[in-house]
Amino acid sequence: MDFYVIDKSSRYEDDKYAFGEQIDQKTGDFEVCEECKLPVGMREWVSPRKVKLSKPSFVDFVFGTFATFLCSERFKVEYEKSGLKGIVEFQDVDTVKVKNSRKEKVQPPKYYHVKIKRGGARIDEIKSNLIREPGEELCQICKVGTIKSFEAVYIENNTWNGDDIFYPTGLPGTIITSQKFYNFIKQNNFTSISLISAKEYKSNW
Ligand SMILES: [Zn+2]
Repeated sequence: MDFYVIDKSSRYEDDKYAFGEQIDQKTGDFEVCEECKLPVGMREWVSPRKVKLSKPSFVDFVFGTFATFLCSERFKVEYEKSGLKGIVEFQDVDTVKVKNSRKEKVQPPKYYHVKIKRGGARIDEIKSNLIREPGEELCQICKVGTIKSFEAVYIENNTWNGDDIFYPTGLPGTIITSQKFYNFIKQNNFTSISLISAKEYKSNW
């Protein structure tokens, strides 16, 4: 099974497409680990979800300050028909501002914030050559800790539950997709999302 990583390294660049950010962000609780009760991600972004786009360039995905990303109505419709798994909710978003949209008011399309599942699989830390902060005691369920670097992203054998898009355990914040999800993106000509082979994806900090 081949996996891909959604590349968010250029999420704040907008030379090609707009990036987005929350305005007057309202937040709820952290998602916590069942076992150790520590937060396993950012606080939940709750309604009303207002965003500002950096320019009037409207494509299928918007990256930026979001935990995941925003998607178009077309993506939502096709995804719902596709039988793919892993997205738990398409959350309503209001685009309240578009920078540089001049005088003629450009009506931005409808966007949704995509909420995805956690723990669809575990990272194989040895094959991925993942280096952790020495001496940290880790909860074996969520494995939340400080990661110094990794050379690739490999999934541990027999831990993948079949989700097509998910946050793996051991590498919080990194969104992994299946080959099926990759094919779906290509077949539908969705642009403005970059998927990198997980075997070639390394830490960039
Ligand atoms: Zn835990």
